[in-house]
Amino acid sequence: MKIGCPTEIKPQEFRVGLTPEASAELTAQGHDVLIQSGAGEGSGFADEDYLAAGARIADDAAAIYAASEMIVKVKEPQPGERALLRRGQILFAYLHLAPDPDQTRDLLQSGVTALAYETVTDAHGGLPLLAPMSEVAGRLAPQVGAWALQRANGGRGILLGGVPGVRPANVLIIGGGVVGAAAARVAVGMGANVTVLDRSVPRLSWLDDAFMGRLTTQFASGPAVADLLPLADLVIGAVLVPGAAAPKLVRRDQLALMQPGSVLVDVAIDQGGCFETSRPTTHHDPIYEVEGIVHYCVANMPGAVARTSTKALGNATLPFVTALAGKGWQRAVSDDPHLRAGLATHDGRLTSPPVGQALGLDA
Ligand code: NAD
Repeated sequence: MKIGCPTEIKPQEFRVGLTPEASAELTAQGHDVLIQSGAGEGSGFADEDYLAAGARIADDAAAIYAASEMIVKVKEPQPGERALLRRGQILFAYLHLAPDPDQTRDLLQSGVTALAYETVTDAHGGLPLLAPMSEVAGRLAPQVGAWALQRANGGRGILLGGVPGVRPANVLIIGGGVVGAAAARVAVGMGANVTVLDRSVPRLSWLDDAFMGRLTTQFASGPAVADLLPLADLVIGAVLVPGAAAPKLVRRDQLALMQPGSVLVDVAIDQGGCFETSRPTTHHDPIYEVEGIVHYCVANMPGAVARTSTKALGNATLPFVTALAGKGWQRAVSDDPHLRAGLATHDGRLTSPPVGQALGLDA
C-alpha cells in the first residue's frame, strides 16, 4: 500500500505519525512509504533517517495526499488538509470528532475512511492509542510540578525529594488511572510523600498492591480533598469521566486552604480541567498564579517531549497501521473489533455512534 505521512501543522505539534523504525517495518513488508520533507524534525528525525529506512521523501503535503492510499498522522486534519482528503483514502490519526462538527462535516464530505486513534479499544477495556500519551503526561506532571515549586517560578521553594533532615514535598494526586499511576511512579521515585485519591476502590486496591506501601491511597470525596489541600505542596489533577467534562474537584475558594506558593498541575485540562481556576496554557507560557497558587495547565503536555511521545505513539499505532496496510481496511476491521471501534467515517457516512449522538447525526 502507498502510505503517506505529512508534517503536522497544528500549532505547537512536534510529533510525527511515522517514525523511521515504523517506516522500516512497513517498507520491509513491501509497502511504499512517503514522508513529507522535514516531517520528523520536531521529533529529532532527519529526512536521511527515513531514506535509510527505505521511505521516499516528498516536498509538500499536497504531494503526500495525492499519492497515498493511507494517511498516517498525529493530530486531526486542519481545514487545509481536509480539502486534500478523498473517497477511497484511509485516514488514521487522533480525530476527537464529538466536539468538532466542522471537521466531521468535512470528513463526511470528502468520503474518506477515517479511523480515530482515541476510540480504538483493547481486550482489557482500555484505549491503547491514548494510554501512551497518558503515560507521558503522567510522568511529566511531577517533573513540571517540581519545576513550578522552585522559588523563581513562584513556587514555595520546596525540593520534591527533600534532603536528609528536611521533609520531602507532599504530592496529592487526584485520579489514579493511567496518568495518576504514572505520576505516582515518578513522584515516589523522586522521593516525595505521595497520596492518591480515586473514586474506584478496585483501582485504589491495585495502586496499593503495585506500590507496596510506598504511597497512601484514599477514597476521593469532597471532605478528603479539603482535608488534604492544606498539607499538599503539589496537587496533580488526573481524573477522567469518559465522555464528560472533568468534574471540578478544587473550587476557587478552596485555594485559601493551601499554602502560598503551592502548585496545581491540571493534566485533565484537555477535558476542561478539574480545578475551578484552571485555564489552558501553552509550553511557551505554561504557568500563572491565582490567589498565590501556581497553576500549570498545558493541554498538550506530551508535546514537550516530542521524541519520546512520537516513539511511544508509534509503538502503539504500528500493529494497526500494519494491519490496515496489509489487509486493507475492510478486512482489518472485520478481523479486529478493537480496530473497528476506531472507524469514524466511511464513504460519506458516520460510523461512530458516540460521535453521532454528540453531534445529533445518524451513525
Ligand atoms: P483514566 O481513565 O486511566 O483514569 C482516570 C481516573 O480518574 C480513574 O481511575 C477514575 O476512577 C478516576 N476518577 C474519576 N472521577 C473521579 C473523581 N471525581 N475523583 C477522583 N478520581 C476520579 O484516564 P487517564 O488516561 O489517566 O487520563 C486522565 C486525564 O488526563 C484525562 O482527562 C485525559 O484526557 C488527560 N490527559 C491530558 C494530557 C495533557 O497533555 N494535558 C495528556 C494525556 C491525558
